[in-house]
Amino acid sequence: MINRRIAIVGAGLAGSVLAERLAGQGHLVTVFEKSRGSGGRMASARIEAAVCDLGVPWLEARGEDFHDWLLTLVFEGVLEPWNPCLRDFDGAPCEQRNLFVARESSSALTRRLLHGAGLDTGVRVGRIDSIGDGVELFDDSAQALGRFDWAFVATPAPQAEPLLATVPALRRAAQRIETRPAWVVAAQCGVSDTAADVYSGGHGCFEQVVNEGAKPGRQPGLWRVQMTADWSRRHLDAEPGWVVEQARNGLETLLGTPLDVGESRAHRWLYSRNTHADLGCGLDPAARVGACGDWLQGGDAEGAWHSAMALADAVENVS
Ligand SMILES: Cc1cc2nc3c(=O)[nH]c(=O)nc-3n(C[C@H](O)[C@H](O)[C@H](O)COP(=O)(O)OP(=O)(O)OC[C@H]3O[C@@H](n4cnc5c(N)ncnc54)[C@H](O)[C@@H]3O)c2cc1C
Repeated sequence: MINRRIAIVGAGLAGSVLAERLAGQGHLVTVFEKSRGSGGRMASARIEAAVCDLGVPWLEARGEDFHDWLLTLVFEGVLEPWNPCLRDFDGAPCEQRNLFVARESSSALTRRLLHGAGLDTGVRVGRIDSIGDGVELFDDSAQALGRFDWAFVATPAPQAEPLLATVPALRRAAQRIETRPAWVVAAQCGVSDTAADVYSGGHGCFEQVVNEGAKPGRQPGLWRVQMTADWSRRHLDAEPGWVVEQARNGLETLLGTPLDVGESRAHRWLYSRNTHADLGCGLDPAARVGACGDWLQGGDAEGAWHSAMALADAVENVS
């Protein structure tokens, strides 16, 4: 495809990987993102002087090609390998895992990927119209955002669905995705010398507990508690302060010590790891619209990466 004006909706992992590939092919890429920064579900937050990965806690590869990509980011100094001590909630050791974490914060990774693209933050795309040999984008107040040769939607399925009006098959696939919420608490607890860095497995309300301070290059004392999808669904409209209290009580029991909790934050994710369609990606050359993201492949970060790579390959093959 000759060089084109391309709009990407969403600056999470999928949108950022796609932007890097398409900008590298010489296209003029603009990424629209509704939040203040990039990262999406790879978001991080600063609690006192420490960084907590509020969304995906790390990256982990099942396949060789994603593993190779992660290694190139290690060589670039963006990611660090992490081999934490893992236990279940009864204290039994778990199988070793080779994880990768961002050196500064997870969103540093997407910022690096977006280097060659224009990033327009604080813009929620509300509509994509087909206009002959291109598309026109509008924000959620119906203000025109511009005309492009192509628009690619890289948002979670519920947010993609209204943007895929001109691609009914893809829209129906998005409607079938079931979402799972997750409350995540980041709390400065001052505790760093514990039996494990990561606790996971069966527990009434905890999905996973991570000592963020044990990640390479991070400040000690910060803990990340992810509640299960069931618990999060039952307490979807709870006060964040109450959620922090529940996490603190459970954490005191788990670590077997009273905690002097400093600054803390509870974040409610409406979509964490959701069901997925296994379509790889979607591309409709007639409508000039495509889609990628974890809902089209894998339902996780590796799937989001594969989906974006698949869409970039498909775009390359369109004449
Ligand atoms: C708490 C939690 C724990 C997780 N744990 C793991 C794990 O252990 N392992 C794993 O592999 N994965 C995990 N995941 C899932 C992983 O984070 C996602 O699969 C991956 O980050 C999805 O990337 P994406 O680019 O497809 O979507 P997203 O990261 O959601 O990016 C979509 C972007 O689009 C933006 N957007 C949405 N609508 C619009 C609009 N209308 N206009 C403009 N912008 C818009 C959003 O703000 C967002 O930035 C977890 C997620 C969460 C939340």
